[in-house]
Amino acid sequence: MDQLESVRTPSSWVVVGLDNGGTCNNATVLDATGQFLVDHLVENPSLVTEGPESAVESLAEAFENIIELTSTPRTLVRAVGLDTPGPASATGVISSKGGTNFGHVSWHGYDIRGALESRIGLPVIYNNDANAAALYAHHRHFGADAMTRSSVSAIVGTGLGGGVVENGRVIGGAAGMAGELGHVQIPLHDVLEDDQPVPACNCGFEGDVESIASLTAIKNNLLPYWLKRFPEHPLAAEPLAKAAKKLRAYGEKEDPLAMAVFGQQAKAIGKLFTIAANFTDPGAYLLGGGVVEAAPRFRQWFLNTVREHTQLRQEQQAVASFALVADLDMAGARGAAVAALERVNAG
Ligand SMILES: [Zn+2]
Repeated sequence: MDQLESVRTPSSWVVVGLDNGGTCNNATVLDATGQFLVDHLVENPSLVTEGPESAVESLAEAFENIIELTSTPRTLVRAVGLDTPGPASATGVISSKGGTNFGHVSWHGYDIRGALESRIGLPVIYNNDANAAALYAHHRHFGADAMTRSSVSAIVGTGLGGGVVENGRVIGGAAGMAGELGHVQIPLHDVLEDDQPVPACNCGFEGDVESIASLTAIKNNLLPYWLKRFPEHPLAAEPLAKAAKKLRAYGEKEDPLAMAVFGQQAKAIGKLFTIAANFTDPGAYLLGGGVVEAAPRFRQWFLNTVREHTQLRQEQQAVASFALVADLDMAGARGAAVAALERVNAG
């Protein structure tokens, strides 16, 4: 019953949003008035490990499924928004070196946007998943004012994703690499302890945001250090990958080791937002990812700590807001759809 009540039919032309992930595609429909027709995840297997042909076919299936589920006549669909994990160009060409989800050699340099466009015969608008999520966070936060406002979003997951939005549009960059916030290097004084080694990121940088504020950073950098200071901690007996995933539950109980780790993450994001303040001076600083799903008291503490370590000038403090943005499991598909709607509206 829930499923039936949570699906609506279109009253105008629409765009479809397709989020391509490592195991699943997620699909949504957005109508011309800015209303989403489904309020839950609608998934199918993404088949990315089988190579581009299977994966594009699976995206086409996701498209057919979602228009059928919402009883949307195909003639009402004006465009499709697509997002995938990077690295990919601004126009949806997967990196010549492939990527985590695109290991198969036939993916290297593959134009996934162009392939889907030919397959379904509709314009396809591409964004990487982090930028799509940032775009959705922006529109969700600002609502009707979204097209005149600006934001920066940091989304803490396995890595640190995010994006920069100006006047409702995500900044893509010349090579599609704008808003790679995880790989911005930050000043580390008053983030790290005096005897703490400078953490390294998978990208080759040292001391960037992702090397501190990500699940990978907890496992590789922060827990190994802090467990030495709390040798009797119950997580010391667990393998690091498992311990890293369990840490949030300890944070919710105000465990001192967990608070030390998450405190460092919040400070690192505050340093990033301080750079953003001097770079694009956004109207909102948005935070998403696992931390948003945590207990209310913990997530509020985290957001407050980020805010305390973001140095804004008085004029900026008067106009800027800080917020947690929820529903990020649907953010990719929804952000991709928002980008497609904007493109259609821009003519
Ligand atoms: Zn990095």
